[in-house]
Amino acid sequence: MEKVCPLCNALEAVDERCPYCGQIIIDGGSLNNYLGPYSPYAEIESLPFKSEGYCVHLMYCPECDYDARVALALVSI
Ligand SMILES: [Zn+2]
Ligand SMILES: [Zn+2]
Repeated sequence: MEKVCPLCNALEAVDERCPYCGQIIIDGGSLNNYLGPYSPYAEIESLPFKSEGYCVHLMYCPECDYDARVALALVSI
């Protein structure tokens, strides 16, 4: 049994809405893809929810530039 992120593996679509304008927010991808020595997102390493069993995605609103980091529970396939 393997644990995978439902969004990274296209098992699930984003159904979060922007709290400000109600648009469906867009998945900007896993933060793992942003991490690197010169990444502005490197500080995510210290966040408590970057842990085993979660995949953290950057989501953003196409309307108002609201963005959020969402920790998704991995699912077993
Ligand atoms: Zn993911
Ligand atoms: Zn918005």
